[in-house]
Amino acid sequence: MTTALVTGAAGALGRAIVRRLAADGHQVAALDLDASALEGALNLKVDLRDADAIEAAFAETAARLGPVGILVNNAAIYPARPFLEVPLAEYEDVHAVNQRAYWLMAQHAARQMTSGGAIVNVASITMHGGWSDLAAYVATKGAATSLTRALARELGPGEIRVNCVSPGAFPTAAEEIHEDPEAYNRFVLERQALQRRGTPEELAAVVSFLTGPDASFVTGQTIEVNGGWVMA
Ligand code: NAD
Repeated sequence: MTTALVTGAAGALGRAIVRRLAADGHQVAALDLDASALEGALNLKVDLRDADAIEAAFAETAARLGPVGILVNNAAIYPARPFLEVPLAEYEDVHAVNQRAYWLMAQHAARQMTSGGAIVNVASITMHGGWSDLAAYVATKGAATSLTRALARELGPGEIRVNCVSPGAFPTAAEEIHEDPEAYNRFVLERQALQRRGTPEELAAVVSFLTGPDASFVTGQTIEVNGGWVMA
């Protein structure tokens, strides 16, 4: 049984990832600002902007469940605002949660993965085509894939595999930023090959593959989970 740590665990996709990794037989530590309990997981209330809190979460997870063998960096924030109006503090928050925390979490995890392990970073389809009013978010998602490749190379000799999943547009709370949900739904389906919306479980299944034994020779990759979204 492996100890798995998932961030953003109370979100729509995070919950599905926690459930799937638990079903795969792992002991799961679920990190989020939102302390609402996820059944079957060790729930830890952590603000990922706080480096000390991240370190404490790793210490507590190791003490209660054993050293981490799987890390899923999934938490993100996505405040929508025109680029020229983004205050520095908001940019710094986005960077802290979506990028600096991915870095710190991977560092702590890799130190505990003395006999190998698997790290999965969560990116976003927006990193390919850009997205108005989300520049800071989009930049961090591009960084997640570069960080994935850099860490895959550096941690490979220790049998630590580092991969990335890049979700398309899943129908979750994140969509509340769109003014007209029906128009957004049409927009998504026009771009996907598959003419239905994906489910969080379909994203979690790819995380399960990347963290499991069937992906034992897969590292440094970004897998697009987006129903065949085609960017013009
Ligand atoms: P969500 O907003 O539902 O969940 C994000 C979670 O992160 C929330 O539970 C929130 O409390 C937590 N969080 C935010 N700030 C935090 C902090 N400072 N400390 C600790 N936790 C914090 O988002 P989601 O839709 O489940 O997305 C999960 C991941 O998938 C994100 O990385 C997102 O960028 C990516 N993604 C999602 C979609 C989608 O369609 N939902 C599309 C592309 C990429």
